[in-house]
Amino acid sequence: MKFLSHRISWIEPSPLAKVLGRISELSKAGFKVISLAAGDPDPDVVPRKILAEISSYVIENIPGSVLYTPTTGVEDLRIELSKFIKEYDGYEAYPENIIITSGSTAALDLLIRILIDPGDIVVVENPSYVVSLYAFKQLGANLVGVDVYSDGIDTYTLEDKIRRLKNEGKKIKLIYTIPTGQNPSGATMSIDKRRHLLEIASKYDLLIIEDMAYNYVVLEGSSPPTIKSFDREDRVIPIGTLSKIMGTGFRVGWVVATDLIKKYVVSEKQPIDYCAPAISQYIAIEFLRRDVHKISIERSREVYRVKRDVMIRSIEEKIREAEFSKPVAGMFLMLRLPNVDETLFAENLMEKYKVAVLPGKPFYTDDKGRDMIRLNFSRPSIDDIKEAVDKIGVLYRELKS
Ligand SMILES: *Cc1c(COP(=O)(O)O)cnc(C)c1O
Repeated sequence: MKFLSHRISWIEPSPLAKVLGRISELSKAGFKVISLAAGDPDPDVVPRKILAEISSYVIENIPGSVLYTPTTGVEDLRIELSKFIKEYDGYEAYPENIIITSGSTAALDLLIRILIDPGDIVVVENPSYVVSLYAFKQLGANLVGVDVYSDGIDTYTLEDKIRRLKNEGKKIKLIYTIPTGQNPSGATMSIDKRRHLLEIASKYDLLIIEDMAYNYVVLEGSSPPTIKSFDREDRVIPIGTLSKIMGTGFRVGWVVATDLIKKYVVSEKQPIDYCAPAISQYIAIEFLRRDVHKISIERSREVYRVKRDVMIRSIEEKIREAEFSKPVAGMFLMLRLPNVDETLFAENLMEKYKVAVLPGKPFYTDDKGRDMIRLNFSRPSIDDIKEAVDKIGVLYRELKS
Protein backbone atom coordinates (compact mmCIF):
# COMPACT_ATOMS: atom_id res chain seq x y z
CA MET A 1 0.00 0.00 0.00
CA LYS A 2 1.46 3.30 -1.11
CA PHE A 3 1.07 5.06 2.21
CA LEU A 4 3.18 2.64 4.23
CA SER A 5 6.79 3.36 5.11
CA HIS A 6 9.77 1.36 3.84
CA ARG A 7 10.46 0.20 7.38
CA ILE A 8 7.32 -1.93 7.46
CA SER A 9 9.11 -4.53 5.32
CA TRP A 10 11.01 -5.44 8.53
CA ILE A 11 7.80 -6.01 10.47
CA GLU A 12 6.65 -9.59 10.85
CA PRO A 13 3.40 -10.70 12.47
CA SER A 14 4.13 -11.68 16.08
CA PRO A 15 3.58 -15.37 16.80
CA LEU A 16 2.40 -14.52 20.31
CA ALA A 17 -0.26 -12.10 19.03
CA LYS A 18 -1.47 -14.77 16.62
CA VAL A 19 -1.89 -17.37 19.36
CA LEU A 20 -3.53 -14.90 21.75
CA GLY A 21 -5.93 -13.90 18.98
CA ARG A 22 -6.91 -17.51 18.38
CA ILE A 23 -7.40 -18.13 22.12
CA SER A 24 -9.84 -15.26 22.30
CA GLU A 25 -11.74 -16.46 19.19
CA LEU A 26 -12.07 -19.97 20.63
CA SER A 27 -13.10 -18.62 24.03
CA LYS A 28 -15.78 -16.46 22.45
CA ALA A 29 -17.02 -19.53 20.61
CA GLY A 30 -17.51 -21.17 24.02
CA PHE A 31 -14.43 -23.40 24.23
CA LYS A 32 -12.33 -23.65 27.34
CA VAL A 33 -8.76 -23.07 26.25
CA ILE A 34 -5.87 -23.91 28.57
CA SER A 35 -3.11 -21.45 27.86
CA LEU A 36 0.54 -22.20 28.47
CA ALA A 37 1.36 -19.59 25.86
CA ALA A 38 1.85 -16.21 27.54
CA GLY A 39 4.20 -15.17 30.32
CA ASP A 40 1.82 -13.88 32.93
CA PRO A 41 1.94 -14.39 36.68
CA ASP A 42 -0.91 -16.25 38.36
CA PRO A 43 -3.49 -13.52 39.11
CA ASP A 44 -4.21 -15.29 42.41
CA VAL A 45 -0.56 -15.09 43.43
CA VAL A 46 -0.46 -11.36 42.75
CA PRO A 47 -1.72 -9.76 46.01
CA ARG A 48 -4.83 -8.34 44.37
CA LYS A 49 -6.71 -7.50 47.56
CA ILE A 50 -3.91 -5.28 48.84
CA LEU A 51 -3.47 -3.79 45.37
CA ALA A 52 -7.19 -2.98 45.30
CA GLU A 53 -6.87 -1.09 48.61
CA ILE A 54 -3.79 0.71 47.40
CA SER A 55 -5.48 1.64 44.11
CA SER A 56 -8.44 3.31 45.73
CA TYR A 57 -6.21 5.01 48.30
CA VAL A 58 -4.01 6.38 45.54
CA ILE A 59 -6.79 7.62 43.28
CA GLU A 60 -8.64 9.23 46.18
CA ASN A 61 -5.70 10.85 47.92
CA ILE A 62 -3.09 11.62 45.28
CA PRO A 63 -4.35 14.04 42.62
CA GLY A 64 -1.21 13.41 40.57
CA SER A 65 -2.24 9.79 40.12
CA VAL A 66 -4.72 10.77 37.41
CA LEU A 67 -2.40 13.25 35.67
CA TYR A 68 0.72 13.14 33.51
CA THR A 69 3.94 12.43 35.34
CA PRO A 70 7.39 13.62 34.31
CA THR A 71 8.66 11.61 31.34
CA THR A 72 11.35 10.10 33.57
CA GLY A 73 8.67 8.93 36.01
CA VAL A 74 7.47 9.97 39.47
CA GLU A 75 10.42 10.85 41.70
CA ASP A 76 9.15 8.88 44.73
CA LEU A 77 8.97 5.75 42.60
CA ARG A 78 12.51 6.26 41.38
CA ILE A 79 13.60 6.60 45.02
CA GLU A 80 11.75 3.41 46.06
CA LEU A 81 13.13 1.54 43.06
CA SER A 82 16.63 2.66 43.86
CA LYS A 83 16.31 0.90 47.24
CA PHE A 84 14.59 -2.13 45.73
CA ILE A 85 17.29 -2.49 43.07
CA LYS A 86 20.04 -2.26 45.67
CA GLU A 87 18.43 -5.01 47.73
CA TYR A 88 17.39 -7.40 44.95
CA ASP A 89 19.77 -6.68 42.07
CA GLY A 90 22.81 -5.75 44.11
CA TYR A 91 23.89 -2.61 42.31
CA GLU A 92 23.65 1.11 42.92
CA ALA A 93 21.05 2.91 40.81
CA TYR A 94 20.65 6.57 41.68
CA PRO A 95 17.04 7.76 41.41
CA GLU A 96 18.07 10.37 38.84
CA ASN A 97 19.44 7.63 36.58
CA ILE A 98 16.24 5.57 36.60
CA ILE A 99 13.67 6.13 33.87
CA ILE A 100 10.27 4.57 34.41
CA THR A 101 8.86 3.04 31.24
CA SER A 102 5.62 1.34 30.18
CA GLY A 103 6.94 -2.09 31.10
CA SER A 104 10.52 -3.02 30.32
CA THR A 105 9.34 -3.88 26.81
CA ALA A 106 9.23 -0.14 26.17
CA ALA A 107 12.62 0.32 27.86
CA LEU A 108 14.22 -2.10 25.43
CA ASP A 109 12.51 -0.51 22.44
CA LEU A 110 13.75 2.94 23.49
CA LEU A 111 17.30 1.69 23.94
CA ILE A 112 17.30 0.07 20.51
CA ARG A 113 16.04 3.30 18.97
CA ILE A 114 18.89 5.34 20.37
CA LEU A 115 21.66 2.76 20.03
CA ILE A 116 21.10 0.80 16.84
CA ASP A 117 21.49 1.78 13.22
CA PRO A 118 19.96 -0.50 10.59
CA GLY A 119 22.50 -3.20 9.81
CA ASP A 120 24.23 -3.12 13.21
CA ILE A 121 24.82 -6.50 14.74
CA VAL A 122 23.27 -7.44 18.07
CA VAL A 123 24.38 -10.62 19.79
CA VAL A 124 21.52 -12.50 21.45
CA GLU A 125 21.08 -15.75 23.29
CA ASN A 126 19.77 -18.57 21.12
CA PRO A 127 16.91 -18.99 21.96
CA SER A 128 15.80 -15.63 23.35
CA TYR A 129 12.60 -13.77 24.18
CA VAL A 130 10.61 -13.53 20.97
CA VAL A 131 9.23 -10.05 21.69
CA SER A 132 12.74 -8.67 22.21
CA LEU A 133 14.02 -10.39 19.07
CA TYR A 134 11.24 -8.79 17.07
CA ALA A 135 11.97 -5.38 18.60
CA PHE A 136 15.58 -5.64 17.43
CA LYS A 137 14.62 -6.89 13.97
CA GLN A 138 11.92 -4.30 13.45
CA LEU A 139 14.39 -1.52 14.08
CA GLY A 140 16.84 -3.01 11.58
CA ALA A 141 19.35 -4.90 13.73
CA ASN A 142 20.97 -8.05 12.41
CA LEU A 143 20.85 -10.77 15.03
CA VAL A 144 23.63 -13.21 15.76
CA GLY A 145 22.65 -16.00 18.14
CA VAL A 146 24.83 -17.90 20.58
CA ASP A 147 23.48 -21.12 22.05
CA VAL A 148 22.20 -21.24 25.62
CA TYR A 149 22.76 -24.23 27.91
CA SER A 150 21.20 -24.82 31.31
CA ASP A 151 23.95 -22.67 32.89
CA GLY A 152 23.58 -19.91 30.34
CA ILE A 153 25.10 -18.75 27.08
CA ASP A 154 28.25 -20.46 25.79
CA THR A 155 30.70 -17.61 26.38
CA TYR A 156 33.60 -19.20 24.47
CA THR A 157 31.54 -19.56 21.31
CA LEU A 158 30.35 -16.02 21.94
CA GLU A 159 33.89 -14.70 21.95
CA ASP A 160 34.80 -16.66 18.80
CA LYS A 161 31.81 -15.23 16.97
CA ILE A 162 32.53 -11.69 18.10
CA ARG A 163 36.20 -11.97 17.10
CA ARG A 164 35.29 -13.33 13.66
CA LEU A 165 32.66 -10.66 13.03
CA LYS A 166 35.06 -7.90 14.11
CA ASN A 167 37.72 -9.32 11.79
CA GLU A 168 35.23 -9.17 8.95
CA GLY A 169 34.76 -5.48 9.73
CA LYS A 170 31.20 -5.91 10.99
CA LYS A 171 29.74 -3.40 13.43
CA ILE A 172 28.68 -5.07 16.66
CA LYS A 173 27.18 -2.80 19.27
CA LEU A 174 25.71 -4.86 22.02
CA ILE A 175 24.84 -8.13 23.65
CA TYR A 176 21.30 -8.70 24.90
CA THR A 177 20.99 -11.22 27.72
CA ILE A 178 18.40 -12.51 30.20
CA PRO A 179 20.75 -14.15 32.71
CA THR A 180 18.22 -15.29 35.31
CA GLY A 181 15.25 -17.52 34.47
CA GLN A 182 15.85 -16.99 30.79
CA ASN A 183 12.80 -16.73 28.58
CA PRO A 184 12.22 -19.18 26.90
CA SER A 185 14.90 -21.71 27.90
CA GLY A 186 14.49 -21.40 31.67
CA ALA A 187 18.30 -21.25 31.99
CA THR A 188 20.06 -19.31 34.72
CA MET A 189 23.58 -18.19 33.90
CA SER A 190 26.39 -19.30 36.22
CA ILE A 191 28.42 -16.69 38.07
CA ASP A 192 31.56 -17.56 36.09
CA LYS A 193 29.76 -17.03 32.82
CA ARG A 194 28.38 -13.71 34.05
CA ARG A 195 31.90 -12.51 34.80
CA HIS A 196 33.24 -13.92 31.54
CA LEU A 197 30.50 -12.25 29.51
CA LEU A 198 31.36 -8.89 31.04
CA GLU A 199 35.09 -9.45 30.37
CA ILE A 200 34.32 -10.19 26.73
CA ALA A 201 32.15 -7.10 26.42
CA SER A 202 34.96 -5.05 27.91
CA LYS A 203 37.64 -6.61 25.69
CA TYR A 204 35.68 -5.96 22.49
CA ASP A 205 34.15 -2.70 23.70
CA LEU A 206 30.48 -3.70 23.56
CA LEU A 207 27.46 -2.76 25.63
CA ILE A 208 25.35 -5.35 27.45
CA ILE A 209 21.62 -4.95 27.94
CA GLU A 210 20.80 -7.07 30.99
CA ASP A 211 17.12 -7.97 31.07
CA MET A 212 16.24 -8.64 34.70
CA ALA A 213 12.58 -9.61 34.20
CA TYR A 214 12.88 -12.81 36.26
CA ASN A 215 15.27 -11.68 38.98
CA TYR A 216 12.40 -11.76 41.47
CA VAL A 217 11.08 -15.13 40.32
CA VAL A 218 13.87 -17.34 41.60
CA LEU A 219 12.38 -20.71 42.53
CA GLU A 220 15.35 -22.39 44.20
CA GLY A 221 18.43 -21.20 45.98
CA SER A 222 19.48 -17.57 46.03
CA SER A 223 19.58 -15.14 43.13
CA PRO A 224 22.98 -15.10 41.45
CA PRO A 225 24.65 -11.65 41.40
CA THR A 226 23.64 -9.54 38.43
CA ILE A 227 26.14 -8.82 35.68
CA LYS A 228 25.56 -5.17 36.47
CA SER A 229 26.87 -5.70 40.00
CA PHE A 230 30.32 -6.51 38.51
CA ASP A 231 30.27 -3.60 36.08
CA ARG A 232 32.81 -0.84 36.70
CA GLU A 233 32.73 0.69 33.21
CA ASP A 234 29.05 1.62 32.69
CA ARG A 235 28.98 -1.13 30.11
CA VAL A 236 25.83 -2.84 31.35
CA ILE A 237 22.45 -1.21 30.85
CA PRO A 238 19.90 -2.88 33.15
CA ILE A 239 16.24 -3.09 32.28
CA GLY A 240 13.79 -4.27 34.92
CA THR A 241 10.10 -4.63 35.59
CA LEU A 242 7.52 -5.19 38.32
CA SER A 243 5.39 -7.12 35.81
CA LYS A 244 6.11 -10.59 37.11
CA ILE A 245 5.44 -9.77 40.79
CA MET A 246 2.94 -6.89 40.73
CA GLY A 247 1.14 -7.88 37.54
CA THR A 248 1.86 -7.52 33.84
CA GLY A 249 -1.17 -5.26 33.47
CA PHE A 250 0.27 -2.30 35.35
CA ARG A 251 3.05 -1.67 32.84
CA VAL A 252 5.74 -0.53 35.26
CA GLY A 253 9.28 -1.11 34.05
CA TRP A 254 12.54 0.83 34.02
CA VAL A 255 15.93 1.34 32.53
CA VAL A 256 18.94 2.54 34.50
CA ALA A 257 21.03 4.78 32.29
CA THR A 258 24.03 7.08 32.33
CA ASP A 259 23.27 10.80 31.96
CA LEU A 260 23.95 10.72 28.22
CA ILE A 261 21.78 7.71 27.46
CA LYS A 262 19.08 9.03 29.77
CA LYS A 263 18.94 12.30 27.85
CA TYR A 264 18.23 10.55 24.56
CA VAL A 265 15.88 7.94 26.05
CA VAL A 266 13.76 10.73 27.51
CA SER A 267 13.70 12.69 24.25
CA GLU A 268 12.73 9.56 22.37
CA LYS A 269 10.11 8.54 24.93
CA GLN A 270 8.17 11.78 25.25
CA PRO A 271 6.63 11.77 21.76
CA ILE A 272 5.81 8.06 22.06
CA ASP A 273 3.77 7.89 25.27
CA TYR A 274 4.77 10.93 27.32
CA CYS A 275 5.07 8.87 30.50
CA ALA A 276 4.37 5.45 31.94
CA PRO A 277 0.82 5.18 33.41
CA ALA A 278 0.61 7.52 36.42
CA ILE A 279 -1.85 5.35 38.35
CA SER A 280 0.43 2.36 38.02
CA GLN A 281 3.44 4.39 39.13
CA TYR A 282 1.69 5.60 42.29
CA ILE A 283 0.44 2.09 43.04
CA ALA A 284 3.99 0.81 42.57
CA ILE A 285 5.27 3.34 45.15
CA GLU A 286 2.92 1.91 47.78
CA PHE A 287 3.56 -1.66 46.63
CA LEU A 288 7.22 -1.12 47.47
CA ARG A 289 6.78 1.14 50.54
CA ARG A 290 4.35 -1.23 52.23
CA ASP A 291 6.61 -4.22 51.47
CA VAL A 292 3.88 -5.89 49.41
CA HIS A 293 6.59 -6.96 46.97
CA LYS A 294 8.05 -9.17 49.68
CA ILE A 295 4.76 -11.06 50.03
CA SER A 296 4.47 -11.42 46.28
CA ILE A 297 8.05 -12.60 45.76
CA GLU A 298 7.71 -15.19 48.52
CA ARG A 299 4.37 -16.47 47.23
CA SER A 300 5.57 -16.58 43.63
CA ARG A 301 8.54 -18.66 44.68
CA GLU A 302 6.42 -21.18 46.55
CA VAL A 303 3.54 -21.45 44.11
CA TYR A 304 5.56 -21.48 40.90
CA ARG A 305 7.99 -24.03 42.29
CA VAL A 306 5.09 -26.37 42.96
CA LYS A 307 3.61 -25.72 39.52
CA ARG A 308 6.96 -26.29 37.86
CA ASP A 309 7.34 -29.60 39.68
CA VAL A 310 3.83 -30.69 38.71
CA MET A 311 4.62 -29.88 35.08
CA ILE A 312 7.91 -31.78 35.19
CA ARG A 313 6.37 -34.81 36.89
CA SER A 314 3.53 -34.89 34.35
CA ILE A 315 5.97 -34.68 31.46
CA GLU A 316 8.10 -37.48 32.89
CA GLU A 317 5.04 -39.67 33.36
CA LYS A 318 3.23 -38.90 30.13
CA ILE A 319 5.85 -38.09 27.50
CA ARG A 320 8.88 -40.27 27.99
CA GLU A 321 10.63 -39.10 24.81
CA ALA A 322 10.44 -35.42 25.74
CA GLU A 323 13.63 -33.57 26.65
CA PHE A 324 13.98 -30.44 28.77
CA SER A 325 16.10 -28.94 31.48
CA LYS A 326 14.67 -27.98 34.83
CA PRO A 327 14.46 -24.23 35.36
CA VAL A 328 15.55 -22.84 38.75
CA ALA A 329 14.06 -19.43 37.98
CA GLY A 330 11.50 -17.85 35.69
CA MET A 331 8.18 -19.09 34.38
CA PHE A 332 9.00 -21.29 31.40
CA LEU A 333 10.18 -24.64 30.31
CA MET A 334 11.32 -25.42 26.78
CA LEU A 335 10.22 -28.86 25.72
CA ARG A 336 11.80 -30.87 22.92
CA LEU A 337 9.48 -33.33 21.24
CA PRO A 338 11.84 -35.27 19.02
CA ASN A 339 10.86 -35.34 15.35
CA VAL A 340 7.76 -33.18 15.45
CA ASP A 341 7.17 -30.06 13.38
CA GLU A 342 6.64 -27.58 16.22
CA THR A 343 4.47 -25.15 14.28
CA LEU A 344 2.12 -27.87 13.11
CA PHE A 345 2.14 -29.37 16.57
CA ALA A 346 1.18 -26.10 18.25
CA GLU A 347 -1.59 -25.52 15.71
CA ASN A 348 -3.00 -29.01 16.12
CA LEU A 349 -2.81 -28.78 19.88
CA MET A 350 -4.84 -25.59 19.80
CA GLU A 351 -7.43 -26.66 17.26
CA LYS A 352 -7.94 -30.23 18.38
CA TYR A 353 -7.24 -30.14 22.13
CA LYS A 354 -7.70 -26.44 22.96
CA VAL A 355 -4.31 -26.13 24.58
CA ALA A 356 -2.20 -23.11 23.65
CA VAL A 357 1.61 -23.22 23.57
CA LEU A 358 4.16 -21.30 21.55
CA PRO A 359 6.17 -23.02 18.84
CA GLY A 360 9.92 -22.87 19.43
CA LYS A 361 11.08 -21.57 16.09
CA PRO A 362 10.45 -17.82 16.50
CA PHE A 363 12.63 -17.82 19.64
CA TYR A 364 15.66 -18.99 17.68
CA THR A 365 17.99 -17.24 15.29
CA ASP A 366 18.54 -20.55 13.46
CA ASP A 367 16.70 -23.85 12.92
CA LYS A 368 17.23 -25.29 16.39
CA GLY A 369 13.64 -24.59 17.46
CA ARG A 370 12.27 -27.08 14.93
CA ASP A 371 10.96 -29.60 17.47
CA MET A 372 10.59 -27.34 20.50
CA ILE A 373 7.58 -25.82 22.21
CA ARG A 374 7.58 -23.30 25.05
CA LEU A 375 5.43 -23.99 28.09
CA ASN A 376 4.49 -21.48 30.78
CA PHE A 377 3.84 -22.89 34.23
CA SER A 378 3.09 -19.76 36.29
CA ARG A 379 -0.33 -18.80 34.96
CA PRO A 380 -2.29 -22.08 34.52
CA SER A 381 -3.75 -23.89 37.53
CA ILE A 382 -2.23 -27.16 38.68
CA ASP A 383 -5.13 -29.14 37.22
CA ASP A 384 -4.80 -27.32 33.92
CA ILE A 385 -1.07 -28.03 33.81
CA LYS A 386 -1.75 -31.77 34.25
CA GLU A 387 -4.50 -31.75 31.64
CA ALA A 388 -2.43 -29.75 29.16
CA VAL A 389 0.62 -32.03 29.47
CA ASP A 390 -1.65 -35.03 29.12
CA LYS A 391 -2.97 -33.65 25.83
CA ILE A 392 0.49 -32.77 24.59
CA GLY A 393 1.37 -36.43 25.19
CA VAL A 394 -1.74 -37.68 23.40
CA LEU A 395 -1.09 -35.51 20.37
CA TYR A 396 2.58 -36.49 20.33
CA ARG A 397 1.68 -40.18 20.17
CA GLU A 398 -0.94 -39.53 17.50
CA LEU A 399 1.56 -37.73 15.31
CA LYS A 400 4.23 -40.36 15.86
CA SER A 401 2.06 -43.33 14.98
C1 LIG B 1 7.97 -10.59 30.78
C2 LIG B 1 9.29 -10.15 30.22
C3 LIG B 1 9.63 -8.81 30.22
C4 LIG B 1 8.76 -7.78 30.85
O1 LIG B 1 7.92 -7.14 30.05
P1 LIG B 1 7.08 -5.91 30.62
O2 LIG B 1 7.00 -5.05 29.42
O3 LIG B 1 7.85 -5.29 31.71
O4 LIG B 1 5.78 -6.47 31.05
C5 LIG B 1 10.88 -8.46 29.74
N1 LIG B 1 11.74 -9.36 29.30
C6 LIG B 1 11.44 -10.66 29.31
C7 LIG B 1 12.45 -11.63 28.86
C8 LIG B 1 10.21 -11.09 29.75
O5 LIG B 1 9.91 -12.39 29.71
